[in-house]
Amino acid sequence: MGKFSMWLQRITYGRYGTDNLNKFLLTVSLICIVANVFIHSYALRLLTVLLLILVYCRMFSRNFPARARENERYLAMTNRFKRSNHSGSYSSGTGYGYGYGANTGYSGPRPKATKQKADPNYKILRCPACSGKLRVPKGVGKINITCPHCNLKFVKKV
Ligand SMILES: [Zn+2]
Repeated sequence: MGKFSMWLQRITYGRYGTDNLNKFLLTVSLICIVANVFIHSYALRLLTVLLLILVYCRMFSRNFPARARENERYLAMTNRFKRSNHSGSYSSGTGYGYGYGANTGYSGPRPKATKQKADPNYKILRCPACSGKLRVPKGVGKINITCPHCNLKFVKKV
């Protein structure tokens, strides 16, 4: 498996590679391959081949923005499903923590801040291509964002 991923990395260098949408498409095509064993359908076999070609084309594409847009659309679609499961769960964070002050009686070492406090002036976004975290200023309208992880440039309204 290690050799395979190294080979994949070399092959996909400078290419778009795998994203959430490709993982999903790959999973569907694998299900189709398994289904092909039981169901001898020409249409199913054709669908499997088409899916694999699609995954292959997206993986080796150099048109990053177009692939990222497709992935973003896919993620937006799945997010809508996920969100409908627990609607109305908005966090009511006040932004003020329970500081370890002199009057709390806490004398030990301060615990390391594992979770950064949400800055009300900033918003955390996910890069549509590599899903890396991006911190952007909030409420300034449309901004050009360059992902620090994969250098993808995209425009987002914040
Ligand atoms: Zn990125």
